[in-house]
Formats: sequence, C-alpha cells, structure tokens
Amino acid sequence: MKASSRGPVGSVLVAVLVLLCGRAAAEASRDYPARPVPFTEVKIDDGFWAPRLATSRTVTIPACLKRCEETGRIDNFAVAGGLVKGFYRGARYNDSDVYKVLEGAAYSLSVRRDAALEKQLDEIIEKIAAAQEDDGYLSTLRTITPELDIRKTRDTPQHQLFMYGKPRWARCDHGHELYCVGHMYEAAVAHWRATGKRSLLDVAIKNAELICKTFGPRPGQIRNVPGHQEIEIALVKLYRATGRKKYLDMAKFFLDERGRYNGRTVHSHNNSITYCQDDKPVVDQRTPHGHVVRAAYMYSAMADIAALTGDERYTRAVDAIWENIVSKRLYLIGSMGVHGYLEGFGPDYVLPNLQAYNETCATVGTALLNLRLFLLHRQAKYVDVLERNMYNGILSGVSLKGDEFFYPNPLASDGRNRQHSRSPWFKTACCPSNIARFMPSMPGYVYAHTDDELYVNLYVGSTGRVKLAGRTVRITQKTDYPWEGLVNIAVEPATPGEFAILLRIPGWARGLPVPSTLYRYAGKSKSGMALEVNGRPVGINVAPGYVRIRREWKAGDTIKLLLPMPIRRVLAHPKVADNAGLVAVQRGPVVYCAEWKDNAGRALNLTLPDEMKLEADHRDDLLGGVTVITGRPAEGKPLTLIPYYAWAHRGPGEMAVWLPRKRRLFYASHVHAKDAPAALEDGREPKSSNDLDVPRFTWWDHKGRTEWVQRDFAKPRRVGSVEIYWYDDGPAGGRCRVPNSWQVLYRDAEGWKPAATVPKRDVVKDKYNRATFEPVTATAIRVEARLQGGFSGGILEWTIK
Ligand SMILES: [Zn+2]
Repeated sequence: MKASSRGPVGSVLVAVLVLLCGRAAAEASRDYPARPVPFTEVKIDDGFWAPRLATSRTVTIPACLKRCEETGRIDNFAVAGGLVKGFYRGARYNDSDVYKVLEGAAYSLSVRRDAALEKQLDEIIEKIAAAQEDDGYLSTLRTITPELDIRKTRDTPQHQLFMYGKPRWARCDHGHELYCVGHMYEAAVAHWRATGKRSLLDVAIKNAELICKTFGPRPGQIRNVPGHQEIEIALVKLYRATGRKKYLDMAKFFLDERGRYNGRTVHSHNNSITYCQDDKPVVDQRTPHGHVVRAAYMYSAMADIAALTGDERYTRAVDAIWENIVSKRLYLIGSMGVHGYLEGFGPDYVLPNLQAYNETCATVGTALLNLRLFLLHRQAKYVDVLERNMYNGILSGVSLKGDEFFYPNPLASDGRNRQHSRSPWFKTACCPSNIARFMPSMPGYVYAHTDDELYVNLYVGSTGRVKLAGRTVRITQKTDYPWEGLVNIAVEPATPGEFAILLRIPGWARGLPVPSTLYRYAGKSKSGMALEVNGRPVGINVAPGYVRIRREWKAGDTIKLLLPMPIRRVLAHPKVADNAGLVAVQRGPVVYCAEWKDNAGRALNLTLPDEMKLEADHRDDLLGGVTVITGRPAEGKPLTLIPYYAWAHRGPGEMAVWLPRKRRLFYASHVHAKDAPAALEDGREPKSSNDLDVPRFTWWDHKGRTEWVQRDFAKPRRVGSVEIYWYDDGPAGGRCRVPNSWQVLYRDAEGWKPAATVPKRDVVKDKYNRATFEPVTATAIRVEARLQGGFSGGILEWTIK
C-alpha cells in the first residue's frame, strides 16, 4: 500500500528491489528441504550395526592406513614435499586412497576421540601440506616427476604416465588430477569438522582457489571437465564449509561444461566421452550410461546443484536417470554395473548374475545419490533403495572381520573367479577406501529433519539428537532390525511441543521390493503392520512412504511399530532374461543366497520350487550371527540360505542369489554366458546353420574339445531318435563349426549308455542331422560332440523322439 502511494515508477522500483532482495535471500538460504541428522548426533547401540562400526574403527581404518603406508601411497606425499628422497610409487590416482581413508578416519574421530589416531592423521596431513606446490597445486605424481620420467617411478606402468599427460591438466579426461583433489576436499572438511583443525582445510582452500583461477569460461582459463567426476560433490562440501560461493559455481561449471566443447579439445573418441558422461550436457541426460562410479558421483552432484540453485533442469535430469536405474538397471542387492571391462552400466534389463560387476564403489555411490534425492524430494522410495544397498551390496563389500574387500559383488559364483574372494587390498584401491569412509558415516543415514518434522528413515537401535521446532529432541530406538521388525521408539523433547514424526514404512513391508516393477513378490502376504502411540493403536496411512504423526510431543512419549518379516520370494521383471524361471528370497531388507558350504558343496545345481516351505531361524553361532532360511523339500536334502552380505567367508565355492523354481531340465559341460540350453527347444526353426537371429546354445569359447549337453525327463520316456540342427557361423566370420562327429547317450536306472554315433561324413550344415537307434527307456538324453580343432560349436534346435 505504501509503495503505491509513491507513484508507479517508485512502486516498480520497490517491487524490483523486493524481488531482487527476495531472490538473493532465497538463493542464499536455498538448500535441500530436509537435512540429515549428522552422524555425530546419532549413537548406534544395536546388535547389528554397532559391532560393524566398531570393526570399521578398530580394524578397517587402521588396516587401510597401514596398506597406504606399505604401498608407498603416503610416502608419495613425503617425497613430493621433499621430506625424504625417493620415487613415485603406484598408479596415477593413488593420492585419492589416502584422502578417502583420512576422511573415514576423521569421521571415526568425530564419533570417538582417539589421540593416537589424531596424531597419525596430523603426521599424514603434514606430508600432504608439504607436497602442495606454492601456487596450491597438489598431485604427488607430477611434483615428484614433472617430466613424467618413468625412471623416477616404481610400480608405475608407462601407460599410467601416458594417461596422466603433461603439462598440468592436459589429460583431464584420464589424468585423475581433479578427481584426487576432490577427495582431498572431502577429507579436509571431515577433518576440520572432527578436530576443529584447519591444517588440511587450508590445503584444500589453497588448491580450490587455484582450480577456480585456472578453470572457467573466461579467456585464458581452461574449459574442460574431469574424466572422473568427484570434485563436483567435493566443491559443494567445501562451499558449505567455507561459505565461498565461487566453489559452488565451480562445481556447477564442471557439470554445465560436460557435453559442450566450447573451445576445448576432446582427447577421447566417442565411446570414451560416453564412458565418462561427457557426451551430452548433464541437464539433457535422461538415462544412466558409461562408468558407474563416475556416473553415481555426477548424479549426486547434480542433486546438490538442483537443491542449492533450484535449477529445475537438474532436477528433471537426475529424476529421469534415477527412474531408469530403479526400473531397469538395479540389481536386487541394490547395486548397479554389469561390465567388468568398462566398469559400466549394461543395457536396460540386462542383469547377468555370474558376471555382475556391482563395484563396491558404485554401491556406495548409489547410497550417496539416494540420500540426496530423499533430501530433495522427501519421499521414502529413495530410502528404500538406500536401505537395500546398505544391507546387501555395501555390507558384502567388506568382510565380517573388516580387513578384506570385494571389488565386484556378483549375484552368483562358480567359485573359480579370483575376484569372487575378498582381498586385503587392490592396486586400484578405490573400494576399500570407500568402505573406510562409508561405514563410519552410516549413522548419518538414520534420521533427517526439517524445521518441525523428524524423519525416521532407518530402523536401527540408536539415540539421535535433533533441533526441532526450537527445542532439542532426543529420539531412541530399540530394535533387533534387520532380523526382527519390532521397533520401540522413545521421544524426549526438552520441552513439550507440536511437531511431526514421520516413520518410514519400508517398501519391502508394503509389497514393493523396489519402487518400480523391476522386482515383485511372488504371492501375497498379509501386512500385519501395527502402530501404537503411547500404547494406543494408530491407523497406518502411508504417503509417500511415511506414516506422519503430528501432535504435541512430550518427554515419555512412546511409539511402537511392528513390521512383520515374512520370508518373501522375489521375481524379476519378465524382460530380465537372466532371471527367467528363477526366484530369489528376501526377508525384511535382507537378500539371501545359497552358498556351497551349507548345501553339500554346491549351489548352482539347487532349485527352489514354489511349493517348498521356508523357515527362518536365527543362528548366533554362524557368520557373526545371522538369520538363516531353510527349505525342506519332499525328498532330498534341505536347502539353506544365508544373507547375501555374509557369503564368501568360508572359502571359494558356488553361490547363487537366484535359484530355478523348477527342477532343472538342461545340463551342459559348458555354456556361453549369453546362450542358454532352453534355446534347443524354443521351437524357433533356423533358416540355416548360420542363422544368427534364432536363440542358440553354444559351448563357446571352448574349442577343439569334446563337449556335451543333456536333457533330463521328469519321468522315464521312450526315445528312438535325436535330430540336431548344428550351429556354424563360419560364413559370418565366426569360430563355431559343425562338430567332427557326435554321439547320443541315454541314462536309465543303471547309468549312462551309448545309443548312437554319427561319423564325420554324416555331419551336415543347414539341416537337421538325424540319429536313430533301437528305442530305449531313458531318464535323460545327452549329446556329446567332438569339436573341430581350433573351433567351438553349438546347436540351434533339436528334437528328441
Ligand atoms: Zn571401487
């Protein structure tokens, strides 16, 4: 009213000023609508996580620090800083492991003072500070050997130096210089928050100032982006710690610059820019692709930018990507990543079990992303994914003892892959160091809040302290989660007052294993959920994923939540070919697997028929205390399942998360990962032996040997002929040929017997090859082929009559 009395010009001016100031204020305060209750304010005291956090503090972090010492990673800083004479040792990104373990150690210090550990960190930080060049640059490899002279390195292959490039930042695509300092910023903020010391924070700021001067859109600045994202999340953290907005702008620059080649040289071919998500502007990206860890860090940074700037284009992009991940690319254990050789995403619905990559870092990255998306949207579905990866794909990444780690986390094993055993360390040690920093920060995932809402996201025996509606509220959970679904919560506000408590009702308890159609439960189960406040029942109205209880809370108030944990069978979307006919088992948030040790030495031969009754029993004596699931078939040996995260502690051997629902009908001496014996009887008639369009069975890449494939019958059957349509991709330039000769065997009560042999002269291409014999009564038929020397072979279709 007052403004209008000043006349139109004045009122417009005031309006503009109000708008500008309003925007400035909104920008300054814009952030995630929800904030996590920091892990320093949450004390875990349950039977499940508390021992693991103790192991992380007493075993994992010291072990990782020791490995960093033994492998020269810490010495690299001392050498670069001129404190000692020596060589650069290891891969070009080795600095990052030291930073990540430092970050974890700092988290550990935040929770529990430890003078010896603090001193150890001080000493390492002294070396890091010494290694920093005068203008703030920090990369020990370049400082030790600016000319990239291989003679000044140890255990550093020549290609490492080539990918690193010179001068500084010349190889942003592969050099990892920005990636490494990103991890240093994260460590610096953690160390400063834990100890109040600025020693590492000052190193970080000095480096970030150099980065801000060097990179940017102005003439003379470098317009380029890191090939391995990480510095973006880190700059946001440094912005939050220092309030220097240019760090936030720098993070956004690195994101906005992706997929735009304004004056920068792209060193990489097209495949490589896709690999590091540099093929399109990030706001135009809609599907996940390329290297999974890079992607997960980038999407997390995109969520940060969406929250801190309110740029809706970022929200739309990261939401679409998340939607695709959970509906088409997520493994049941909450992990992602198919290709070992590219460490990358596979196509939609391609989720092989034996070859699953699921790098531990990628699962940590999935957790980072889902926490952020929860804070942005305040929906429980993100925590559903987070909980799934915490209890399965992340926990499996570290041994129960805390000193051995997985790089890939497969969903099946034949016990012969060396990567299917945990290892104390790796040459590329990203995974152990990510575990070292994830575990101690885990309590920070339990609660979140707004000004007058408290979110209980995870059910973990713990006490949290949070400032809410102008008062401190203590919240205490007592529960045996994840083994039992009863949770008792005590609420103690310092003074009585009105606020809301939002209890997450996990997707797994609402009939939704994941927030998509990618997995579903077989059959129905009564919910049986119950909720009481101060002993009185309360209706469970879930939206979106939470029960919201708004009332005047006072000290002594209690909440009792019961989430029944029936054993559930899980089925995959029909488009997931690798899980066709298979079933997995889940109880509460825990995914189960069959391991050789509990199942007469094998797991890949097991079945889980729909009618098999399953029972859960807690075994304190097994694998650190686990609930096992036992199935009792009508005949034969019982089936035992253990939590997936606990596998691979009793020596190498078979493991399977997904089991056939029906007795297996086909067996083979070997089958190529992309083929299946079911192709033998799929009714798809081949046009020629070189028909690449019909599904096939092959023994690829076994060459020149005798191989077999076998069909079991549910009950004995009269058989008098077998017709085979051999696969031969010679015309297409492949290495499969018709065999030299082949033989039919049959099995009866006495065992295997030969039925017919087809000699070389009768083996033909492009039509059915028939073997007839005196009819026999068989329980199984086996075809044995002598492959041509140097060639493999396969079958497109067969008929057994
Ligand atoms: Zn890793």
